[in-house]
Amino acid sequence: VDPTLPIALERLARLLGRLPGVGERSAQRLAVHVLGQDQDYARALGEALNALHDSVGFCRQCYHLAEGELCRICQSPARDPRQLCVVEDVPDLMAIERSGEFRGLYHVLRGALSPLKGIGPRDLTLDDLLRRIDAEPPEEVILATSISVEGEATASYVLGLLRHKLADGKPIRVTRIASGVPQGSDLEYLDQATLGRALRARLPFQR
Ligand SMILES: [Zn+2]
Repeated sequence: VDPTLPIALERLARLLGRLPGVGERSAQRLAVHVLGQDQDYARALGEALNALHDSVGFCRQCYHLAEGELCRICQSPARDPRQLCVVEDVPDLMAIERSGEFRGLYHVLRGALSPLKGIGPRDLTLDDLLRRIDAEPPEEVILATSISVEGEATASYVLGLLRHKLADGKPIRVTRIASGVPQGSDLEYLDQATLGRALRARLPFQR
């Protein structure tokens, strides 16, 4: 807390400082910047923040962000339901979308398995994933969880769940992004070309 700042400014800086990648110094700089703009901007910013939770929720099918029941990807007739890409979180989905390599549907797990953090299968959206796959089995499930201990554990767990699932009488093909993705990397920070290559070069996934 900086006692030299007006309280309203300090409060804004403190809130901005909780955003990822924003340190204390840039939070203060941003707060001063907002103050320097005309008041309409600050008002519009506040209203946009206010409206966020009222108008945006989670897609009931894939857990991407959605403005109604279904997200825009699940609603789109241009997407191919024969491919289902499983990701940990929304920013990973956004990264794959930016790569432009994928035209199928997604499923967002809302995390990864982590005994250390106390995150187990029940904390992820795995039940919904299985229900979905039973109702409309895709030909291929692409496991695009992060290339980390937790991401690998999650991918293995999902593979186990899918072992006996069939699509049109054939086992569902389960693949894993790999090539070109450095160990321990979060998908959202990969450049588009690397992520695109990793998707194209995906391999059958076995335990
Ligand atoms: Zn969706």
